[in-house]
Amino acid sequence: MLEKTIPKEELNSYYQSKFEYYRKLSALAAIATGILEICYFVTDCQIFGRFANETLIPRISVMIPLILFVILNPMVKTYRRGCLLYYFIPHSAMWATIWAIWYLPDRDFAREGFIIMHFAFLCIGLAMPLKQHIVMHGLIFANIIISNLFIHYQHFDMMITLALPVYAGVIFILLILEKSYADHYLIRKQIEKNSVTDQLTTVFNRNKLEEIVSSEDERFDIEQYRDVVVLMIDIDKFKRVNDTYGHDAGDRTLVFISEQIKSCIRSTDIIIRWGGEEFVVLLVGAAMEVGLNIAEHIRSSVEAADNGICPITISVGVSKYDGGNYREAVNKADQALYYAKNHGRNLVVSYEDIEDRST
Ligand code: GH3
Ligand code: MG
Ligand code: MG
Repeated sequence: MLEKTIPKEELNSYYQSKFEYYRKLSALAAIATGILEICYFVTDCQIFGRFANETLIPRISVMIPLILFVILNPMVKTYRRGCLLYYFIPHSAMWATIWAIWYLPDRDFAREGFIIMHFAFLCIGLAMPLKQHIVMHGLIFANIIISNLFIHYQHFDMMITLALPVYAGVIFILLILEKSYADHYLIRKQIEKNSVTDQLTTVFNRNKLEEIVSSEDERFDIEQYRDVVVLMIDIDKFKRVNDTYGHDAGDRTLVFISEQIKSCIRSTDIIIRWGGEEFVVLLVGAAMEVGLNIAEHIRSSVEAADNGICPITISVGVSKYDGGNYREAVNKADQALYYAKNHGRNLVVSYEDIEDRST
């Protein structure tokens, strides 16, 4: 079932995913904020009624943080660092505006300029956690209050009362967007999970291989998968269960076997429903001897357990992954399983054993 809220332990990856999803748009907004800051020089000239050379340097000064942003942005990988870098631009633009306002004959024009700033914060806030946004955007008021100490805006109180509802409105919009991104995130996670999960037994299906096998040379492509013991498990005479007790009972047996296997392995091991009543288990970081012990433990627990339908046994083929193509290890485990089937079933057989016997 789809979860309704993001679990606490997943918040970090949720914010990271939101940042990665929206960061291009937010970066664009940050760059546009810097460029618009320079364009406001035209407004300065309109106010002065001439070329406002006094405000040229203050306006252009925003280029320094903007260039820094363009250089640093590709190096920023996490939303926490992104938060610091991205909000740095509208705050720099605001201080460039304050510097330019210092020279204006009517400093109250700042009011409009500061209102426009909220839109920059809105666009940047798209990629950030709302909590951080509330603080980083709220610093707009600190900028106004501090600059008022030396600029002495004529209508300082109005500047604050006008900005407050705009600030609240932006936060409300971002709250709605954060909630809808949470839905998007949860649905995407569920789809990803479903695509690698076998619906009957809830263990992985073969699609899981795409995550753990390199597409170039079909090796297990993560460091931790170097040491892997492969178990190929097949239920003995399973057709009889279906024929005698019905397909439903067969399905319940499959669930039961998968639970038995799960109870014998670690959470870091991987269990895949390979086909109808065959399971492949990857014992990660296990030596062959340990793998054989676990296989024997699985076999004996299935034999001893009461599944409420009929006594069931399994056969297990075991092989060691040697770092090459994963299919070789699976084929070896399959050959060992075939050997077990031909030698009485309810057995654990290692590929090394049958190889030794044949030489
Ligand atoms: P063996 O000991 O040689 O493995 O004998 P077996 O009867 O288990 O032979 P085989 O492995 O060929 O049998 C596979 C059977 O598994 C055939 C099919 O009816 C059954 N099966 C495959 N998938 C499912 C499933 O999803 N549900 C049920 N109930 N049965 C399934
Ligand atoms: Mg079978
Ligand atoms: Mg089979």
